[in-house]
Amino acid sequence: MKVENNKVVAVDYTLNAKKGNESEKFIEQTSPDHPFVFLFGSQQVIPDFNHPLAGYDLHFTGKIKSVREATPEELAHGHAHGLTGHEGHTH
Ligand SMILES: [Zn+2]
Repeated sequence: MKVENNKVVAVDYTLNAKKGNESEKFIEQTSPDHPFVFLFGSQQVIPDFNHPLAGYDLHFTGKIKSVREATPEELAHGHAHGLTGHEGHTH
């Protein structure tokens, strides 16, 4: 699978965070049925974790699950419409 701009990428990931000498704590994880799907090259790669995690060291472990061509609609919107390209939201 080759990841390039304008491909829709699905990843499974686990995010842990650690602050100073505290032990690492679990933050978030995708489930097998709901990978994180994004349009590569859209600069929307990372979900909006920033606010509560300021000052933490993030430990992000991810694995690419699938890569497909973006649909014309997704390219026009600048974001992915779910795994199939036809889900995620309505307009
Ligand atoms: Zn859209």
